[in-house]
Amino acid sequence: MAEATPAPVHGATLMAQTLRHLGVTTVFGIVGIPVVEVADACIAEGIRFIGFRNEQAASYAAGAWGFLTGQPGVCLVVSGPGVLHAIPGLANAQANAWPMVLLGGSSPTSERGRGAFQEWAQVEAVRPYTKYAAQPANLDRVPTMFQAAFRYAINGRPGACYVDLPADLIQGAMSLGSEGTAELTMTALQGLSPPTRTLTLADPVQINRAVDSLRRAQAPLVIVGKGAAYARAETALTAFIDRTGFPFLPTSMGKGVLSDTHPLCVGAARSEALKDADVILLLGARLNWLLHFGERFSSTATIIQVDVQAEELGHNRTVDIPLAGDVAAVLGQISSVWQSSPSKGGQDFGLYLDGLRARRERNHATLARKAESSALPMTYHRAFRAIREALDDVYDRVVLVGEGANTMDIARSMFDLHSPRRRLDAGTLATMGVGMGLAIAAQVHYGLDVPNEGRLAGQPPSPHQHHDRVVAIVGDSAFGFSAMEIETAARTHLPLIVIVVNNNGIYHGFSDDEYHSRAAAHNLPSTALSPGTRYDLLGEALGAQGFHATTPEALHAAVRQAWDTTTRPSVINCCIEPGGQQKLEFNWMKSGKEIK
Ligand code: ADP
Ligand code: MG
Repeated sequence: MAEATPAPVHGATLMAQTLRHLGVTTVFGIVGIPVVEVADACIAEGIRFIGFRNEQAASYAAGAWGFLTGQPGVCLVVSGPGVLHAIPGLANAQANAWPMVLLGGSSPTSERGRGAFQEWAQVEAVRPYTKYAAQPANLDRVPTMFQAAFRYAINGRPGACYVDLPADLIQGAMSLGSEGTAELTMTALQGLSPPTRTLTLADPVQINRAVDSLRRAQAPLVIVGKGAAYARAETALTAFIDRTGFPFLPTSMGKGVLSDTHPLCVGAARSEALKDADVILLLGARLNWLLHFGERFSSTATIIQVDVQAEELGHNRTVDIPLAGDVAAVLGQISSVWQSSPSKGGQDFGLYLDGLRARRERNHATLARKAESSALPMTYHRAFRAIREALDDVYDRVVLVGEGANTMDIARSMFDLHSPRRRLDAGTLATMGVGMGLAIAAQVHYGLDVPNEGRLAGQPPSPHQHHDRVVAIVGDSAFGFSAMEIETAARTHLPLIVIVVNNNGIYHGFSDDEYHSRAAAHNLPSTALSPGTRYDLLGEALGAQGFHATTPEALHAAVRQAWDTTTRPSVINCCIEPGGQQKLEFNWMKSGKEIK
């Protein structure tokens, strides 16, 4: 009897199996020609596919997934415009140093240069926004090339990678047993595993210098950036702060690595801490606009900087002690030298700490006072207080997403974080429109309350069974960039809570009357949006539960009810004072200076 010839391996299946071997559980994207087969093959392999409505949001989701999981987030899009629409996500991930891999379908290789369907120079187009961008020459190269993209994404400074998938490869087949290389390819595939991140350690000479300097500090300050959050440095940092008693200041996504209510957290006395410190230990935080390029530090302060990317050390300000390495690993190095080095004595920063604490208390009191106002329409502060109070008994299950100018800024100071990687925002690139992508990625990661009957065929349960909930507090303008993704969340049964902080405009808007009289006089500024837009009704139309809240009481009740809704998203239209009479103040730009 003749031996049965094994069925040929379909290109799309090979791609999906490669992703499974690389540990991928979730793919974000939008299908169409020629990647439908890739997405379906992923679903057949047990990989969850989350289909978005705009590639931009899907690509933002993939970057956020990379930050949250430490594994590259994967985004799958169609050729030409699909890849072009996903470039923002690549840029955002690169800027934030988050690992992601974009997979873009592309026109058949035989039609290249002839004006093929959706033909675009994709590899060239993504090159400036990626660490690695390539196209496999044939199916044999798919497993190794995907693996390379994953390896690049998580090693060195994490970032964005791209692999191009020509239609002929997706639809192609490798006949096992007949082609010399096919069996080799399949063997290589079986041997693939998720790439490991190689930990890098700092120069021991510099570690000694760092400990010496930290031991002598009279006014030390540790700045905890999102690189520390990404590095999972919470255990090492807790030990370090316990040992040294140094005060620390988290950046916006560094919040939660240590609790904001830790007695040594001086996030609420930021300006003073930056100005007064004599030794500053930067942990995974760049001296970019968010830290005023290091210009607010005392000119005599000793700067010790830890970053996984050696080229970053010394950017914008001379670094006295450069420590190139992984934050968690370097903190371990520092701690072991610290333990064995003699105390220099006289390290009493009680006065400095008292000053920072007094400032922190004053700033907290100011915030609390601002949240007392009973005026209607509500102020930002009053609205956020109502949200915070409504979440009080479940606050440890909340994951926060923030975007919008004033919305993001004020929310950052009013919502404490107690654990790491539970706050996502506009990030280093200050990208507006990221909110829904971030919220969807976070809700899938932290808890997907999908009842079995509601889960799509072949979709695995969430990796977390925490049933944690995303509360996305977004400005009305920011929400507009990706509001359609509420349908994505509804279809995927994601119980995220979206609170649209609606002030009828970008930065500020106008009341109904003012808006119409200005419109009649052709005197509307570019920042104005239509007053009274009902984002809650938009949400309902897309499958969410909608709430219209114009008072603190109604807002409180809406948040409670939204929390009790576990099978679909909620959209709360939170109407606050339009503030159009105020001088247009670019608080957001100022925020770098005054983030509390
Ligand atoms: P923030 O906005 O919180 O100030 P940045 O994005 O400016 O943070 O800085 C994060 C830095 O962390 C980047 O320069 C990045 O290279 C670095 N980084 C990322 N992962 C690690 C890691 N594991 N160890 C050390 N540094 C890291
Ligand atoms: Mg607004």
